Amino acid sequence: MIGRIVKIALDSPLDTEFDYRWLPAQEGDSEPRIGQLALVPFGRREVIGLITAVGDASDYDASKLRDVIALRTQLEPLPPAWLDLCRFAADYYQRPLGEVMLPCLPKGLRTASTVALDRALKKRATARPVAAAAPASATVLNTGQQAAVDAITAAQGFAAHLLFGVTGSGKTEVYLHAAETVIAREQAQGRSAQVLILVPEINLTPQLENSVRARFPHLQVVTLHSQLAEGERLRNWIAAHHGDAAIVLGTRLSVLAAMPQLKLIVVDEEHDPSYKQQEGLRYSARDLAVWRARQLDIPLVLGSATPSIESWQHAGNGRYRRLDLTQRAAANAQLPRVGLIDMEVNKAPEGLSAPLLAALRARLERGEQSLLFLNRRGYAPVMHCDACGWISHCRRCTAFMVLHKPDRRLRCHHCSLEQRIPRACPTCGNVDLQPLGRGTQRIEEQLQTLFPQARVLRIDADSTRRKGSAQAAFDSVHRGEVDILLGTQMVAKGHDFQRLTLVGVINPDTALFSQDYRAGERLFAQLMQVAGRAGRAGTAGNVGNVAQSAELAASGSQPAIGMQRSEVLVQTRYPQHPLYRALLAHDYAGFAEATLAERRSAGLPPFVFQALLRAEAKQLQQALDFLQAARKLMPCEGIVINDPVPMTITRVAGQERAQLLVESASRARLQAFLKPWMAALREMKSRLRWSLEVDPVDI
Ligand SMILES: [Zn+2]
Ligand SMILES: [Zn+2]
Repeated sequence: MIGRIVKIALDSPLDTEFDYRWLPAQEGDSEPRIGQLALVPFGRREVIGLITAVGDASDYDASKLRDVIALRTQLEPLPPAWLDLCRFAADYYQRPLGEVMLPCLPKGLRTASTVALDRALKKRATARPVAAAAPASATVLNTGQQAAVDAITAAQGFAAHLLFGVTGSGKTEVYLHAAETVIAREQAQGRSAQVLILVPEINLTPQLENSVRARFPHLQVVTLHSQLAEGERLRNWIAAHHGDAAIVLGTRLSVLAAMPQLKLIVVDEEHDPSYKQQEGLRYSARDLAVWRARQLDIPLVLGSATPSIESWQHAGNGRYRRLDLTQRAAANAQLPRVGLIDMEVNKAPEGLSAPLLAALRARLERGEQSLLFLNRRGYAPVMHCDACGWISHCRRCTAFMVLHKPDRRLRCHHCSLEQRIPRACPTCGNVDLQPLGRGTQRIEEQLQTLFPQARVLRIDADSTRRKGSAQAAFDSVHRGEVDILLGTQMVAKGHDFQRLTLVGVINPDTALFSQDYRAGERLFAQLMQVAGRAGRAGTAGNVGNVAQSAELAASGSQPAIGMQRSEVLVQTRYPQHPLYRALLAHDYAGFAEATLAERRSAGLPPFVFQALLRAEAKQLQQALDFLQAARKLMPCEGIVINDPVPMTITRVAGQERAQLLVESASRARLQAFLKPWMAALREMKSRLRWSLEVDPVDI
């Protein structure tokens, strides 16, 4: 019998692929193919791997190799373009290939049992075809939207577009029109087409999903994100992989889905930090989307009201084409008026200033909704004792235990350590412990005291722990069952609240003085985004409609007489800060240009390229010593390797953490350095936990 030698990538930290022998069990067994999944013995286990090469068994002595147990012939092999994408990601982010390929497949494919896979494939075979209902009539585009759609769909081959439009300017309509055009054009040629739409938040997929389904009832639309049940995730992944799904809507992980007919990629809110994976393969889904579009020679759309500084730079130097949406899509919809409340003048020991309270009261009287934004969950960030100065440190982290009043606990947000609120000060016995500072729970309590008739709803990670509870909460806002919505960045993104006419921002100043050079960029984006929640429909005439989706429900209704323009009030102690001046003017372009100039003179990204090596150990010195040794491993021409330093939050869960920043003005040179450096580091066989992040976002 003629056998084959196959190279197989396994989910293993060893940076290599493994050779196995394949022998047909009987005459006529189908041969192994590149891209196929295979069950193989590995140590004492049986694991799933992916075939990356197939050779002749006669090439060399295969008798010492272990045998492939089974091929997953029921599944189409992963296509070459997908293998290339994984190879690129493994290379660029310095990870073993198997640790890129395998973890991005649904769990049901990575088990020795084929039960889940067979069930999913059976469902696929018996699925009824999608109803041939008439597509919902498309909204008429305004001139800016139409020009954007024309530019995107006229592109030949790879073209990256930065769709720059204020919130409410109808970016989603542009995406859907472009998708429609691209799919129709391929169909006219007798080919099928797939479109990938990335969104930053799982919470935003349901509303977008509904609009996409309504718009394309004749096409299969699937979602891919980490909260799908395993069975559904597997079925959806297979629908993408087999080309059944014309539109795939997903969070960052979907950028690694196999889509053989991919013809257009959209990255909505491309600046959003959640596109960056923070563990394992630390990839940027936005950056991989750009690479993938270029590899496939297809158009790409990056949409944002506040593009990342990197994308803004690319638009400036011509690598991306900027498409501006300057008007809000709803006729008569205006940008909200932004006002700053000077907190030096308006002292507010309880957190809410008199002007903000007055504005809230006016909304309550008019039956309109308000939103308060405070990016800090819990009741108070720290508890302390007035008598002796004790404060609620976490004993495992360089951080405070946060007071969570409703469940009467102190909780560390870094290591999840929990304890009951002490009855008395652990140091001096004083029974009068005080909360310091304010989180969303405390503001909620205050609102309930001040406005006992108002229906107050808090939305943050604590209030939405149960599956589906976030959606239920947002639905109740849309139904008008909430007068004051209060929340963290969860409420800032994407949602289209039609009855909302006031946005209050409670304590944004800390970001102005952060060590993180990206803090300002993030704050500006957050404030623009949360400001964009107000006055989306433009008119009180829309009150009573249930919003269907972001940017879609915007229709052309006439303004009601006497309608107030929406308002955004920011409480700050630094009203003269350039960031706030730019916010007042809705001037993202000015802010971005100023930021770019600053970065250039400070030698920060995007003008340099960085990689960050992190190490953790029981003793800080061990971590620093490891990094010091790493630093001396290689000559580094054209590379700057900085001194190892402790991380800002040095200790988390009892581990001391330090980092080493590597920089170069040339991306290619940095990449050329990293590869052998990583190999040398692995050779050190250190017992410390360490990791490398390329293009780090949190330094
Ligand atoms: Zn005390
Ligand atoms: Zn902790």
